[in-house]
Amino acid sequence: MQIPQLITERSPFVSLEFFPPKKQEEWPGFLEVAQELKQLQPLFASVTYGAGGSTQSNTLEICEQLIATCGFEIMPHLTGVAADKDKIDGFLGAIKAMGISNVLALRGDRPAGFTGTDAELFSTFPHASNLVAYIHDHHPQLAIGVAGFPEAHAEAPSFAADLAVMQRKVECGADFIITQLYFDNRVYFDYVERLRAQGVSVPVVPGILPIRSLASLRFVLEMCNARVPGRLINSLMKAHEQGGASAVYEIGVAHARAQVKELLDGGAPGVHLYTLNKADMCLAVMDGLL
Ligand code: FAD
Repeated sequence: MQIPQLITERSPFVSLEFFPPKKQEEWPGFLEVAQELKQLQPLFASVTYGAGGSTQSNTLEICEQLIATCGFEIMPHLTGVAADKDKIDGFLGAIKAMGISNVLALRGDRPAGFTGTDAELFSTFPHASNLVAYIHDHHPQLAIGVAGFPEAHAEAPSFAADLAVMQRKVECGADFIITQLYFDNRVYFDYVERLRAQGVSVPVVPGILPIRSLASLRFVLEMCNARVPGRLINSLMKAHEQGGASAVYEIGVAHARAQVKELLDGGAPGVHLYTLNKADMCLAVMDGLL
């Protein structure tokens, strides 16, 4: 079923993001994690595409496995990186054959080590909005999600320009937005308010990353430009000095729980958890909140 319709029927909700494990031998363990997370009754689960070196076929196979083993409503991600229309049609044909009704349409990023030009890499779909328009026109049975950046995308010249980009994505056919991770809910509520003021009325689902360790936080911050509030950094550092890794973990759970609770109390339609393919923290964060 299409996600906007599911949101209308069941809000508030939790949804989950997974990435395809690189090695086939990791897949059974991954599927066990997904099965453990079934108890959260996620509204949908999304599977990344091309991020961290994963391939298109990995995304498709993991989608298929998640449907078969967990029965999740699945939303694959899809980027326009080095893609022509045939490649996009092939991917969308494959997901439709699996009974999938949703896709997250992204521009994507330069793969590490790619030495060509942006013009070569994004020749057919220079922006996510081009991919959204193509899917909307040629695959109208799919609901289309897009990425939103409450703290503005790193390449955007200004916040206003990034809001205009989002307006364009919705005009081209985007049905809902999933946000980049962030750690201060004020940026989400402010973002939604500014989108609504621009006439963007589609659901905006906040993306939440529970902080597992200082190392994982560092890794994530290298990939996105989320700001970490000073008070949170202080608590994490203090916890690390006094109680080590387990104390940092506890702060991570407590912060994400507080974020989720405030979001749901404040009217967010649901929360999208960046699982990093682990179950324990997601279960601890959501315990009793829905
Ligand atoms: P766009 O919307 O095209 O925006 C990219 C930049 O271009 C922005 O700065 C925007 O302001 C600017 N821009 C857009 N349109 C125009 C225009 N017409 N004129 C001028 N400037 C413009 N990456 C992956 O590789 N695989 C994934 O599975 C994946 N999943 C993601 C899931 C979520 C929820 C999020 C938030 C991000 C994900 N990403 C993924 C990362 C994403 O691909 C990158 O953030 C990428 O840099 C931008 O993608 P986009 O779809 O936002 O692009």
